[in-house]
Amino acid sequence: MPLIRGAPLAAAIEEEVRRGVEALTAKGLRPRLVAVKAGDDPASELYLKRQAKSAERLGLRYDVEDCQAHAGVSDVLATLARLNAAQDVTGIIVQLPLPAGIDVATVQRHLDPRKDVEGVHPANLGELLDANPALPPCTAAAIVECQRATGIPVAGLDAVVIGRSRIVGRPVALMLTARDATVTVCHRGTRDLAAHTARADLVVLAAGKAGMLTPAMVKPGCTVIDVGINEVERDGKRGITGDADPAIADVAGWFTPTPGGVGPVTVALLWRNAVAAARMQTG
Ligand code: NAD
Repeated sequence: MPLIRGAPLAAAIEEEVRRGVEALTAKGLRPRLVAVKAGDDPASELYLKRQAKSAERLGLRYDVEDCQAHAGVSDVLATLARLNAAQDVTGIIVQLPLPAGIDVATVQRHLDPRKDVEGVHPANLGELLDANPALPPCTAAAIVECQRATGIPVAGLDAVVIGRSRIVGRPVALMLTARDATVTVCHRGTRDLAAHTARADLVVLAAGKAGMLTPAMVKPGCTVIDVGINEVERDGKRGITGDADPAIADVAGWFTPTPGGVGPVTVALLWRNAVAAARMQTG
């Protein structure tokens, strides 16, 4: 069963990003990203360090603005207002999780939409109603890239998306609809999940429930794009797994592994958005 591997897809996108950054830098317009963090989540620290390294590798400027562990919503919004106004900042990332009590959507609404490289501001999400939004949310766009890698035309496919979050499930449903798939969105309120997945040519898993899609639930030969990230313990070791039962590999035609599938493509698309945002602001 062919695997959709994220690394080569990400490498091709990164090459395009490197060229884009070079062209902007040659004009004296090197993009600058700032990640805003608050709280003291150790996983975030690690993630931001990795992000900084990748940005450097691609020639992007990258800084972290730390609002500190005890930050409240007004501190985070004041930081955003300052970065929105800063001429040399072309992209802003809001690192999650934020401390308990800070509403993520409220914070995201205060980003300048032109600097919203994660594509999470309502103005950018609204642009998903058009076929080619300037700054799409990275994970949803990564799902579309992974599907494209199969070479199977999207038009006419029966697609089932499991999960309806604001930045993954719902956006990808709009993106697939714009590409002429017939899309069903399933969620916690769906009565008979298997009845939907059984007729799907394409199943997108974005629920965060390990093992929720079993081989008996899908049509042989279908494509399964698994976005889920779940921490599991196997043979006494901690690791991550997606939302599909690994045995799905025996029936699916195409399948994204976890780790190594959608994740690397998501990161590469953040950099692509960073270049697009910088281009937009510099004319
Ligand atoms: P979320 O928690 O905001 O949404 C989960 C959705 O799944 C909800 O709409 C819910 O209704 C649905 N759901 C939950 N249990 C279900 C069930 N049993 N049956 C049907 N629907 C069910 O999550 P999110 O932010 O969209 O993320 C989803 C998953 O994707 C998580 O595991 C997250 O870690 C992962 N993720 C991966 C990437 C990546 O790049 N690979 C990026 C973002 C999120």
